[in-house]
Amino acid sequence: MKKRVLVTGGAGFLGSNLCKRLLEDGHYVIAVDNLYTGRIENIQPFFSNPDFEFVQHDITEPMDIKVEEIYNAACPASPPHYQKSPTFTTKTCVQGLIHMLDIATKYHAKILQFSTSEVYGDPQIHPQPEQYRGYVNPIGIRSCYDEGKRCGEALCFDYAREFHTRVKVIRIFNTYGPNMDPKDGRVVSNLIMQALKGEDITIYGDGSQTRSFCYVDDLIEGIVRMMDSKDEIMGPVNLGNPGEFTILELAQRIIEKTNTISKIQYCPLPADDPLQRKPVIEKAKELLSWEPQVSLDQGLDATIPYFKRQLAAMA
Ligand code: UDP
Repeated sequence: MKKRVLVTGGAGFLGSNLCKRLLEDGHYVIAVDNLYTGRIENIQPFFSNPDFEFVQHDITEPMDIKVEEIYNAACPASPPHYQKSPTFTTKTCVQGLIHMLDIATKYHAKILQFSTSEVYGDPQIHPQPEQYRGYVNPIGIRSCYDEGKRCGEALCFDYAREFHTRVKVIRIFNTYGPNMDPKDGRVVSNLIMQALKGEDITIYGDGSQTRSFCYVDDLIEGIVRMMDSKDEIMGPVNLGNPGEFTILELAQRIIEKTNTISKIQYCPLPADDPLQRKPVIEKAKELLSWEPQVSLDQGLDATIPYFKRQLAAMA
């Protein structure tokens, strides 16, 4: 059945991939974005689609729009971006979400909150199940995002308890793929762009820290399944690929796949950088019958050509 769907952060990496999927599924999609990190080129292909609408708006300002579903993806997610204006990041996570929860409550719409593995901080338990309450520095340089997203989860569940709002929360682990901003400063985009340009490959610390990388199509499938699940399934549900790699392993794969002449350059590890991260996805398997299908090798093979095109467009 065709639904009116709002996607905040609709011009961003995940938001634009989600808009594409929802349009393919036959829905009417309204993308809202302030273009702080979102990029018009990510949604340009949808402008000719009569079922797509773009509204340039900052969700920290109130809005009123009647929809049946809200995906709240708006927030800079790359550490250098969310740290550039940290108070604005918290405001987006908290005030922005309150505005969206108010819309969901008013129109009895479902709202799916894009939370993050960052709620686990620098985890003392490995891998991370949803019951783990995290180890977050409340006053560090990552706090604006980590605590903002933690407050976001609290808000969702309080709205559900207090106002019977139909909330759903997913915790997204590192994701990569087409529509990532080549300049967004995250590890996959940085390393591929550096390799393609023949520049030094920047490894922060000794590269022994781990991450689990999920290809974007897999993630979007999990997100849509979560939205389509019964109202009782509120989460939080981890969505990510449990394959775990050191940053050095990731660099080596990118070096091999791009055939680059680039050399590794070791740089200081940023403060509060989590040492390890890997999702337990049993809940997603059980509740959503979901698990990732795309291996890191397959995902990188699909992502590297995208960054090649981005580089060509910059020339
Ligand atoms: N990192 C790196 N080189 C880079 C960018 C990131 O070694 O050019 C490291 C970073 O220190 C972290 C990991 O890669 O340990 C993942 O960083 P990212 O910013 O992609 O996301 P995070 O998972 O830290 O939010």
